[in-house]
Amino acid sequence: EHGVVVVGAGMAGVQTAVALREQGFTGSVTLIGAEPHQPYDRPPLSKAVLLGTAEGSAFDVDFEALGITLRLGCEALGLRPGRHLLDTSAGPVPYDVLVLATGAEPNRLPGAEGVPGVHLLRTLDDAERLRPVLARQHDIVVVGAGWIGAEFATAAREAGCAVTVVEAADRPLAGALPAEVAAPMTAWYADAGAVLRTHARVERVEPGDAGGSGHVVLDDGSRVPADAVVVGIGARPATAWLAGSGIGLGTHGEVLADDRLRTSVPDVYAVGDCASFPSGRYGERLLVHHWDNALQGPRTVAADIIGAATGEAPAAYDPVPYFWSEQFGRFVQYAGHHTAADATVWRGDPAGPAWTVCWLREDRLVALLAVGRPRDLAQGKRLIQAGTTMDPGLVADPARPLKAA
Ligand code: FAD
Repeated sequence: EHGVVVVGAGMAGVQTAVALREQGFTGSVTLIGAEPHQPYDRPPLSKAVLLGTAEGSAFDVDFEALGITLRLGCEALGLRPGRHLLDTSAGPVPYDVLVLATGAEPNRLPGAEGVPGVHLLRTLDDAERLRPVLARQHDIVVVGAGWIGAEFATAAREAGCAVTVVEAADRPLAGALPAEVAAPMTAWYADAGAVLRTHARVERVEPGDAGGSGHVVLDDGSRVPADAVVVGIGARPATAWLAGSGIGLGTHGEVLADDRLRTSVPDVYAVGDCASFPSGRYGERLLVHHWDNALQGPRTVAADIIGAATGEAPAAYDPVPYFWSEQFGRFVQYAGHHTAADATVWRGDPAGPAWTVCWLREDRLVALLAVGRPRDLAQGKRLIQAGTTMDPGLVADPARPLKAA
């Protein structure tokens, strides 16, 4: 039987190993991860784990019972596809089939690297370093009003810290949402007692001395007190180690996978935050940095690995992307994918506690963002999946369930 080696023991890697067993794969499965910890889930790191209301977020998977060999604290350093060898910090590892699931790494703030009191939030170690920082209830500056910045600001306010969020764009979530949709979210910061400063770039971070507070210096010269700085300015695929391997990479460094999540190199797959795939549904390549993609993609990878032996090709990977965020006491959910050319239709008052925005393309629902309206999300996701034609007038009535015209 063939041996599968999975690199990266996050959600996508763990799910790939589990899916292989669930789908009946009997060959050897080895899961290699750079971090020393038992594999864990990331979303709680900016929520319960950060606040200390949950101890950890280790996956509830019995690797031994499933016959999955874990090699933790082992970093992949290079790939020699011609010889089917993965080079790691513990030496070369041979594979028959390799799955790349190394996820993403957070972008660093230029000039702030190594400055004491400057934090990222991606790993369990990061979250554990930040917990006592929150407990001190001091001044915290969050750089970036994206998903992670908003969730961290929420936790820090809950913990009683003074929070200033510094954002270079004119609004929160500028990379993800159009101005009209992000506009109502601006008020969420103030409601939670956090200061949001837009059009503000960090010039430099001045660390505090013993007992004294440090400062963040902005491009307009103003100084914001900061005992700690948390940087949430996006993430990029963790693929630098693949340079020169022959694996095709895209402009963001993501592995370019096909619609069955195969890479440009035979016997090598890529899944989760590290890879993009061509979406038949949306007619463009998608690079998704969300949890659900790291849950769904692995099923296609496992089916294709098993199918390659039996001659059965799985269906193309063509999900309706989905994610959620918990921020400022609100449950925000998004399904689908929209572009600036799609028409927006509002359901409900964006100043209120619950509302939804739908994106329509030629009267078909392509995406929706639901705030405190989980039923809209569930119904909308099904309509996107089915490609149903909608009546925009009916979609706009928040009292009517989302359904076909
Ligand atoms: P990762 O989780 O990044 O796992 C990759 C693993 O590979 C890591 O453990 C890494 O150490 C390891 N690795 C990297 N390079 C190497 C190497 N060279 N050798 C060996 N191992 C390597 N998504 C949502 O939809 N909703 C949320 O509310 C949400 N909250 C989040 C909160 C936080 C704080 C973070 C960081 C992310 C959140 N996400 C959320 C995103 C979601 O967690 C990710 O999309 C998901 O973790 C992706 O899984 P992955 O396995 O592809 O990558």
